[in-house]
Amino acid sequence: MDTASINILLVEDSASDAKLLQQTLWHLGGERWQVVHFERLSDAIDSCSKSTFDIVLLDLFLPDSKGLNTLAEFYAAAPNIPIVVLAKFDDEDIALQAVAKKAQDYLIKGQITPNLLRRTIRYAIDRGQILKQLKESEHRLRAVFEQTFQSMALLTLEGIILEINQPALKLWGSQQQDCVGKPLWELESWNFSCANQEWLKSIIAKAADGEFVRHELLLPSENNVMVWIDFSVKPLKDETGKAVLLIVEGRDISESKRAEAELVNAWVQERELNEMKSNFVSMVSHEFRNPMTVIRTAVELLESYNHQLSDQQKSQYFGKIQTAIRQMLQLLDQILFLGRSDAGKLQYEPTPLDLEDFCSELTQTLQLAANGKHQIIFSFQGEQTSVEVDENLLRYILTNLLSNAIKYSPQGGKIVFNVLCQDDTATFQIQDSGIGIPLQDQQRLFETFHRASNVGSIPGTGLGLSIVKKCVDLHQGQIYLQSQVGVGTTFTVKLPLNHHHAQSLELVESY
Ligand code: ATP
Ligand code: MG
Repeated sequence: MDTASINILLVEDSASDAKLLQQTLWHLGGERWQVVHFERLSDAIDSCSKSTFDIVLLDLFLPDSKGLNTLAEFYAAAPNIPIVVLAKFDDEDIALQAVAKKAQDYLIKGQITPNLLRRTIRYAIDRGQILKQLKESEHRLRAVFEQTFQSMALLTLEGIILEINQPALKLWGSQQQDCVGKPLWELESWNFSCANQEWLKSIIAKAADGEFVRHELLLPSENNVMVWIDFSVKPLKDETGKAVLLIVEGRDISESKRAEAELVNAWVQERELNEMKSNFVSMVSHEFRNPMTVIRTAVELLESYNHQLSDQQKSQYFGKIQTAIRQMLQLLDQILFLGRSDAGKLQYEPTPLDLEDFCSELTQTLQLAANGKHQIIFSFQGEQTSVEVDENLLRYILTNLLSNAIKYSPQGGKIVFNVLCQDDTATFQIQDSGIGIPLQDQQRLFETFHRASNVGSIPGTGLGLSIVKKCVDLHQGQIYLQSQVGVGTTFTVKLPLNHHHAQSLELVESY
């Protein structure tokens, strides 16, 4: 500063005072002064936008502005130029008020010695510089405070809010003017319950005692949406280690909480899946082992006692072997079917079909397979018998339901099989008078491996109905059941036939 030239803006309406000041500056050796002089405040303010000044020497009483107003106007127009007020001897009061506001210092006209003038200018510039740096650093810190995604507030040890940033206002649903000066526990997010407020007070008291406190909380946020907050209160300590202020931080961790819950969920699902797989393997091995044992025993007997066995005994053993093989093949079919459907390879492929003929043939086949104790009574009602459905899927559905009706009626009896084809819907109803299904088992029967608790020694794997359900879904149909233990069971399947219509319409149009 000693060698560089200093630009001084002199605002003084008295020509003699201005001249005196300029002469005093002239007498000060060693420094080069650039002085620009104006008599009116408006001209001085104008020049600030054109040139840069290191300091302004400002008379408060000018032709176009008087008193502290002069200071306020000048500061508003050029807040970064340090101001030294020039006051008359009897204006010292007002000069002091000016210093209390925005001025760096003041000089009393008539008492300005060269040394005093030099010192005043130098200190004012230095102070202005420091103030500017402080302002900049405050500006930077405030920007961080406001822009951080964390909610932050600064509290007294009693919990009164001194500062609060935008994210905190947003999270806790308040306006800045409502918050500052209030205790934190009076904000909307906290005051919904007394217990909550008491808890927060205790946390603040702990922090005021010097402890860092941190908790995960579920709090209502904007529009009463509940959010998870990582909440902490940290004491800010002085050099002696005593807490003087409290820093409150809150971070919305709802997202990571959600992700965590999903992960746990996925883990549980995977565990269930693994359990199901191992159940499946042990079930399947068990189901294969039984018929295999039957076959092995029969073969061994046939081999060892070939000559002693009568023809009738031999054909009995061959019959057993054949039944066992049929069971294994059926199981294999079911497993393959499920595998294909799980892999998404199973598709709905409708073809034209005479529904009445199809159902009647199926009834005969199953009737033959049943050992005479059961009687399947088939009836068909409807305007049309020719429909378009996926024959394979339909065969699975009806075969499984009919064989269940037979299997779960160990006493034998009638099985009623009604088909109704009406209003683009085919309804199939299979009713037996068998053992029935307990209410608590009915819901889960369509899941793989689920069997009712009353099956006793009736063999089965619990795969049939899950396959039926898949086939019905592929048809976009529905399946219901009505059952009473000891009375009987009715399964109803409804399949929409409108696919058939949609397709034939398309065909008509394209011809
Ligand atoms: P499979 O895989 O050989 O068909 P399953 O018959 O045990 O074995 P599902 O056809 O899926 O398996 O049937 C599931 C369970 O539903 C059966 O175990 C049985 O408890 C019950 N169930 C099904 N149909 C009937 C019925 N008509 N009467 C009584 N219970 C039935
Ligand atoms: Mg079955």
